[in-house]
Amino acid sequence: MKVMKFGGTSVGKPERMRDVASLITKDNDAKIVVLSALSGTTNALVSISDSLARGERSGALQTVDQLEAHYQTFIIQLLSTPEAIDKAKQVISEHFEFLRIIFKISFSEALNKDILAQGELLSTKLFSVYLDEKGIDHMLLPALDFMQIDSYEEPRIGSIKVKLSQILTANQHKTLFITQGYICRNDKGEVDNLKRGGSDYTASLIAAAIKADSCEIWTDISGMHNNDPRVVEKTRAIDQLSFDEAAELAYFGAKILHPASIWPAQHYNIPVKLLNTMEPEASGTIILQEAGSTGVKAVAAKDGIIAIKIKSSRMLLAYGFLRKVFEVFEKYRTPIDMITTSEVAVSLTIDNRDNLDSILQELEAYGNVEIDDNQTIISIVGNEIVQTTDVMKRLFEAINNVPVRMVSYGGSKHNISLLIPASYKTETLKLLNKGIFGL
Ligand code: ADP
Ligand code: ASP
Ligand code: MG
Repeated sequence: MKVMKFGGTSVGKPERMRDVASLITKDNDAKIVVLSALSGTTNALVSISDSLARGERSGALQTVDQLEAHYQTFIIQLLSTPEAIDKAKQVISEHFEFLRIIFKISFSEALNKDILAQGELLSTKLFSVYLDEKGIDHMLLPALDFMQIDSYEEPRIGSIKVKLSQILTANQHKTLFITQGYICRNDKGEVDNLKRGGSDYTASLIAAAIKADSCEIWTDISGMHNNDPRVVEKTRAIDQLSFDEAAELAYFGAKILHPASIWPAQHYNIPVKLLNTMEPEASGTIILQEAGSTGVKAVAAKDGIIAIKIKSSRMLLAYGFLRKVFEVFEKYRTPIDMITTSEVAVSLTIDNRDNLDSILQELEAYGNVEIDDNQTIISIVGNEIVQTTDVMKRLFEAINNVPVRMVSYGGSKHNISLLIPASYKTETLKLLNKGIFGL
């Protein structure tokens, strides 16, 4: 069995959705197809929810109306028979009825999650109507019946496995299953989600749970590129990445993959393929245990970083100091990305500012605390790059005039990270494209 995940742009236009139907019916192999919301929908839902939270009801209502109009046009272009159009209209009215009821109830975090879930529910149900119209046998698997996270927002892989295998065993005669990406239930049984871009994570969790032969991530670009194509003009696809390399790139900003989407596939050794819905014959990128080659493969950038420096003359030589500092971050469940130390100071970076004030306050007990906001981490990723001769020389020659705030080298064999002011990101990515990749 394999998993095929199609992102927002792959289902965002009626003709693309039809292409998805052809791609998944090319062979009769058993598969679970994971769909995102139509492109733009989750952003619209976020905006509706945010407006409601701020009490701006008329703005929220306007967005609901616009979104509904978009879906009405979409189904008319997608479907041809009156029966199918009727069914699709019912689906739309069911979900937009909900998006209007929300104006009558008080806003809460649980309601926010319910609102955000509407996109994937709509896309999968409308796709199912289209498959029915085409006479393509399939089964809609509600993700809310098996996808679960615990109180730490970690997936409950054991329970996902059990539930999915029960569903699949009860439906052995079926070969095509369609399910929602992104959405799940939390430890309270409420509707929740796997964070923005989370459909990739859904796909990889399902692939792990059913020990799939492969996990295909279909998107709008032919594989992982060597640099961010949204920022740099000339980029090229990478044929093969190791799970470690892909995980570093995803974590450090390569938007093509959700940051957490690699570990389940890596743990169960399931090949991940990054493919392009608009160019299905392109080979894309394959992600396997082996890196395939050594040397620098790609750079990525992660925005919204805060650097925190704790300076204390009596600190670093004292054992136990770093533990005390780390405990503060642990207490507030805030992951640290980069860390560098000197004799009198330690600098580290975080991207989650939810508990920043409390963290800073507690750190004051250990020394003088300073922060630099609006920073970006630039990660240079490649198998064994740390052992590659003159990589540091080439790197620093390429970005000669960029003020580098921190450098992390040697933490892993496949990553070198630099912290720079966010205002230098575009320039740095362009300079690295030239200096390191010759593009
Ligand atoms: P989907 O909606 O299919 O999940 P995303 O927008 O989440 O698609 O991810 C695909 C986008 O990721 C591409 O259109 C591209 O602009 C962006 N991207 C950022 N960095 C990279 C990279 N290194 N390689 C490929 N794509 C990248
Ligand atoms: N629809 C969700 C989002 O836009 C999940 C995803 O597309 O992966 O973030
Ligand atoms: Mg995505």
